[in-house]
Amino acid sequence: MSENKKIEKIVGVKGMNDLLPNDSSLWELFENTVHSVLKSYGFQQIRTPIVEPTPLFARGLGAVTDIVEKEMYSFEDSMNGDKLTLRPEGTAGVVRSAIEHNLVYDGPKRLWYSGPMFRHEKPQRGRYRQFHQVGAEALGFSGPDVDAELIMLCQRLWDDLGLQNVRLELNSIGDVDERNQHREALIAYFEKHENILDAEAKRRLYSNPLRILDTKNPAMQDMVNAAPKLLDYLGTESLAHFEGVQKILRHNSIPFSINPRLVRGMDYYNRTVFEWVTDELGAQGTVCAGGRYDSLFSTFGGKPTPACGFAMGIERLIELMKVAGEIHQPALCDVYLVHQSDEAQMQAIVLGERLRDAGLDVVLHCATANGIGNFKSQMKKADASGCAYSVILGEDELANESVTIKAMRSEDGHQTNVPFNAAVDYLVDQITGATDDAHCCDDPHHVHINH
Ligand code: ATP
Ligand code: MG
Repeated sequence: MSENKKIEKIVGVKGMNDLLPNDSSLWELFENTVHSVLKSYGFQQIRTPIVEPTPLFARGLGAVTDIVEKEMYSFEDSMNGDKLTLRPEGTAGVVRSAIEHNLVYDGPKRLWYSGPMFRHEKPQRGRYRQFHQVGAEALGFSGPDVDAELIMLCQRLWDDLGLQNVRLELNSIGDVDERNQHREALIAYFEKHENILDAEAKRRLYSNPLRILDTKNPAMQDMVNAAPKLLDYLGTESLAHFEGVQKILRHNSIPFSINPRLVRGMDYYNRTVFEWVTDELGAQGTVCAGGRYDSLFSTFGGKPTPACGFAMGIERLIELMKVAGEIHQPALCDVYLVHQSDEAQMQAIVLGERLRDAGLDVVLHCATANGIGNFKSQMKKADASGCAYSVILGEDELANESVTIKAMRSEDGHQTNVPFNAAVDYLVDQITGATDDAHCCDDPHHVHINH
């Protein structure tokens, strides 16, 4: 190949993003927080494959839904002809797994999952083709108590993350019979206003009229607002369930508003549906959505099992965390090791291992294509690492078996020489020492947000 032939770069798939190191600490903070909140309510993790048989979604989500109609990454496995789909959401896989492994045989289960989901949508802020969700599924529970619990779990998470501008919208979409009655009334109403319906609405008039209520078309808003409301078609049991959820929320001072127009994009929902929305993210303002899905187990051929769950969009929540507060990047390490000869580096490596044995995070200065770098350039790297201390091993230190320890974050850049064998104790004491409370509350390894 000729020397100057330009080699084309390969770039990532459109709508599928890299999570870069600068953001990963914020993701870690989010994930740690949500995991500990889930644990505090007794939820256990489940991990299902990213690829599932295509019929799982086609049957579970409903054939006439945005996801199944136009957003799924489906393909045939060329090795054996299997029809497969990259999961567009998590609930169907969790329920498939629960049926396959008979997970609820000994009682109900509270489960959570986290991971990438795939939908072929038009990429824009807050909307990607690979995105990430954390979801919770309470399987085998029939009452309003668990619906309210899931909502309160979310509220606790927003509080722990310091997110204040997220509000709860709640609705009940009733049970199948109630929905069918409402559906008839809705179709009759839309037929009366056929001249206002857009092409998409006309197409859905008989297949999925409920979704017309979800239209974003401004020309249809007035007509849609005056359409028959599902809430007026609820029977006593559905109404009592809905009232039960509200009662628990009110008793625990969780603010909410009832949005009679709230419907979900998947067919499997019934009764309780909810969304957490914010005005701070532009058009993609729904950060979490969920509801009850009492018929999904039966749809998949399992024993009828009532259930309720939610899924939150991690990218949107990370954006919201950024809007909510100033983000402090955590330090890379506690200690950065600087050295000035091969022999000194040998010593530095040994010291680094001892410091890690003692629980500290340590970065060793290593060679690049430009060599090892002089003292000044090594100190620059130490500073950029955000470390609390740099440890210097030069000629003098080697000669008298000592190290020089420089405090990188104190104003006077305090520097001290200690025997090589005393360096670990000295640093551990300085960094984690009980006498210095500044460190206990300002751990440099935890990203935090100032509100
Ligand atoms: P939307 O109305 O925004 O398309 P949805 O009803 O399709 O959302 P759900 O299937 O309920 O969304 O997914 C739950 C959450 O996952 C959403 O509230 C959102 O936060 C997030 N989410 C959904 N689709 C995407 C996407 N393409 N990119 C990023 N996040 C997404
Ligand atoms: Mg969508």
